Amino acid sequence: MSSFPEARRWPGSEWLKDHPRLLEALYAVTERVLRAIWPFLKRVSPVGSARLLLWVEKPAKEILFNCQMCGQCILHSTGMTCPMNCPKNLRNGPCGGVRANGNCEVIPEMPCVWTLAWRRDAQMARYAGEIRLIQPPLNRSLQHTSSWANMLDGVDSRTPPGWTRVELEEKE
Ligand code: SF4
Repeated sequence: MSSFPEARRWPGSEWLKDHPRLLEALYAVTERVLRAIWPFLKRVSPVGSARLLLWVEKPAKEILFNCQMCGQCILHSTGMTCPMNCPKNLRNGPCGGVRANGNCEVIPEMPCVWTLAWRRDAQMARYAGEIRLIQPPLNRSLQHTSSWANMLDGVDSRTPPGWTRVELEEKE
């Protein structure tokens, strides 16, 4: 369980997160640029390219989103609010313990990540409503890897070995 670690936080990050349209525009540009340069980077150095993305992504997203480097980023589906900041790491909405004032039951002084995400999702232009999508279980083996590289390689949307119904039945 995450203890909601306070990473290097830029004071303006809360203001930015309350303006998710700016962030989703930034996300869209970043994704387009990365998709354009990724094949070239991979050709130059498959290992080095993933390291390079990690080197850029980690500090940028820690400062902006208190990113926990889950490796499967769903920020644009959660109002540009990192769901891994939920102390229970919930990725499909809040638990039943949200306080009457909208704060977290585990950390009472902290607004529930999901109350923030819900409000910010409604403010978005391109991705508004994506918060209703059901997210798959988190693949913990991707922790501390670059979610950008995982997205570009399709690793983040792949079912990990051993997770399919057939494979599970075979083990029984
Ligand atoms: S990569 Fe994971 S931990 Fe980091 S911002 Fe995205 S959802 Fe949050």
